[in-house]
Amino acid sequence: MSRRIFARVLAAASFLFLGWFAWTQTQPPQLTMSKIKDGLFEIEGDGGNVAVLVTNDGVLLVDDKFEQDHDSIVAAVKTVSSLPVKYIVTTHHHSDHSGGNGKFISSAEIISTANARANILAHKQSTAPDNMVPARVVFTQEMSVFLGGQEVRAKYVGRGHTNGDAVVYFPSLKVLHTGDLMAGTSPLIDYPGGGSLAEWAQTLDAAMTLDFDTVIPGHGKVTTKAGLLTYRNDVEKLKTRVTGLIREGKTQDEIAKVMTAEYKWAPTSLNMQWSLPGMMTELK
Ligand SMILES: [Zn+2]
Repeated sequence: MSRRIFARVLAAASFLFLGWFAWTQTQPPQLTMSKIKDGLFEIEGDGGNVAVLVTNDGVLLVDDKFEQDHDSIVAAVKTVSSLPVKYIVTTHHHSDHSGGNGKFISSAEIISTANARANILAHKQSTAPDNMVPARVVFTQEMSVFLGGQEVRAKYVGRGHTNGDAVVYFPSLKVLHTGDLMAGTSPLIDYPGGGSLAEWAQTLDAAMTLDFDTVIPGHGKVTTKAGLLTYRNDVEKLKTRVTGLIREGKTQDEIAKVMTAEYKWAPTSLNMQWSLPGMMTELK
């Protein structure tokens, strides 16, 4: 190949690559859907995990990710049901779980805890877009939707990730969606959003009294009741560790270093911004 042809081929390849790269930057992230039980699916990728309950009377979702994921969620639901999304039960106010509300609210009934609605209206999540739309129907302790002969029960079981987390229970399927009361490897305690590390383990204890064998966490892979118990115990260990450090007289900066070393909390992470200052106050 002559040098001139090579240069042209290289230029063309670069052009195609840059075009492809620009295209990927404007596309919503890819979502994947998998079957959890008969009639129940889960959508992962970008934002919180979405549960999809398919019934003969329509579809119910738990959470609706970010606004940018709306079309991909609708497309995924279409592969398992020709019926519309009638209800969305929201686990909490964060934009990676409630961000799609604005696009769904004209066609679906959105339900959350009263605190989750209040947190959206008060813009308690500093990183959320300004146009977040809260649920129209709220509850404080428990509510159920009966759709296509199936009960979907949302319960407020106490503070943890925020002050308005709901767990969503599918009694006949024995599945629990925990929202971010179980999410990732290290709990994010959103103190500005009313979260509490001191109460989180008790909150999960209340959820554990339900009869289920499968857990859809707010983020991460689907697990079992035993997986949720392990997470609950890790939350308790975190509380004990940080309480111990505070009682030893360690400063916030010193505890930040421990959190980075032992829990991989990056110095600029939301854990450092939202969780650490609140833990210093709550656990002292
Ligand atoms: Zn969250």
